[in-house]
Amino acid sequence: MTEAIRVLFTAAEAAPFITAGGLGEVAYALPKALSQLDNGDPKSRVDVRLVIPAYPFVDYTAYSPTKIAEFQINRNSGSETASVLHIRLDNTLDVYLVEGKPIDQAGNTVYAFDAAQDGEKFTFFSLAAVQMAREINWPLDILHANDWHTAPAVYWLAQNRGLAPFYAHTASVLCVHNLPYMGDGAGPAMNDFGLAASTDTQLPKWSREMPLPLGLSTADQIVAVSPGYSQEILTTAFGAGLSEYLNTRAESITGILNGIDTDLWNPAADPTIIQKFDVNSINLRRKNKRALQEMYGLTPDSDSPLITMITRFDHQKGVDLALDALLQIADQPWQAVLMGSGHPDLENAAARLEKILPGRVRALIYYDKDASRQLYAGSDMVLIPSRYEPCGLNQMIAMRYGCIPVARNTGGLRDTIEDYTLSEFSTGFLFQEATPEALAGAVRRALYVFRHPESWNAMQVRGMEKDFSWKNSALQYEKLYRDTLKRFRKEQK
Ligand code: ADP
Repeated sequence: MTEAIRVLFTAAEAAPFITAGGLGEVAYALPKALSQLDNGDPKSRVDVRLVIPAYPFVDYTAYSPTKIAEFQINRNSGSETASVLHIRLDNTLDVYLVEGKPIDQAGNTVYAFDAAQDGEKFTFFSLAAVQMAREINWPLDILHANDWHTAPAVYWLAQNRGLAPFYAHTASVLCVHNLPYMGDGAGPAMNDFGLAASTDTQLPKWSREMPLPLGLSTADQIVAVSPGYSQEILTTAFGAGLSEYLNTRAESITGILNGIDTDLWNPAADPTIIQKFDVNSINLRRKNKRALQEMYGLTPDSDSPLITMITRFDHQKGVDLALDALLQIADQPWQAVLMGSGHPDLENAAARLEKILPGRVRALIYYDKDASRQLYAGSDMVLIPSRYEPCGLNQMIAMRYGCIPVARNTGGLRDTIEDYTLSEFSTGFLFQEATPEALAGAVRRALYVFRHPESWNAMQVRGMEKDFSWKNSALQYEKLYRDTLKRFRKEQK
């Protein structure tokens, strides 16, 4: 192939319009990085276009959208009108917004957490996204879907390739950001939109009506968001009931690490932090630390290591492990600022720890991006005791800000952090078991090294010098698209 490869990138959310989590960051940053890969060689060009739902609670007018298409999506009970708006974003990326009743009626959040409503909304959106290509006569080479929300598009493509010549040569890539969320409850909506349960007897019976498993069973290529996670999902412990099935597809599964936007996350130019610094002026971080101690009522002591945790308060993230571990090592001189919100039990437990250790622990039970930047810029270490972690941005941002990760040895954490025992390369501290004891052990190791500033500083430098930019990932996706297409079209012959 000697011309640009056409990729339609579909997702439930995308910055800068609407983000509810990591997926929204990826769905903006990756297409942007792909569209900027153009290095003058037409062979390496990717013509990537992003399509997301037009949520009624987001104001898109500042982006001057123009309506470019309107068509019907068939369903058993009649049909549903889909409208498509077009935006040229940052003068680099073409973005399509899909409007329609199922999206309008599904509440005021990206994820309604009502399986029936979400099922209806995302099935409609998925079908409109993939069928839009034909309406605007843009013959796509690759359909790139993300997670269960857009997996119905992959399933539809597999079923309609033979019937619709427009899609005969389109291959699909399904990216898994979080395997356990499979779209349970979306079956009736899928059915109503003409997507019947799978007849693939290798798929576990319970999963044959769920969008993600259906997408996984029909995607030409499956990508997990880190090489580590792509291996883990093949095991019983991480496979969420699909490991056996995924093993039958192992040849079509790979892992590509997410990146971070290194312009947005840059301690040398971050306007929200008290004191900017770079790899040559790491000692300036102490001003940020002092500011945090003052802001959050901690004893102003620069020798006391400052621990942070910035995360969704969710079982996955091991917040409970962190709280228990901190209590276990309360005899050591550390301070902690824990920031996040989510599960009420975990929020209450964090608030309780603040009461037990006043002046040493602060629990900030809210979401605040700017405050999180100051925490990365001033804390000495960040705890990331995830029970599973498909990729994780936390550790990459932390390292870029000279904040040392103490993390579970799993998924994307394992792929991005070198443990202290590999001292020449080390960038953090890893532990194996998802227990408070194992985490406490790792924090103890970190506290010990903290008392040896030369070693600590060397780790900070190595972390700050790591390249977590999206460019690396975009290059790997570009290759993956080409390889997938080549294989797919060869199989077609
Ligand atoms: P996930 O996407 O599973 O939540 P990641 O580590 O991939 O986990 O991404 C989490 C991102 O959200 C990080 O950038 C982290 O800094 C940010 N974040 C999490 N909780 C908060 C909070 N309470 N305030 C500000 N930022 C937060």
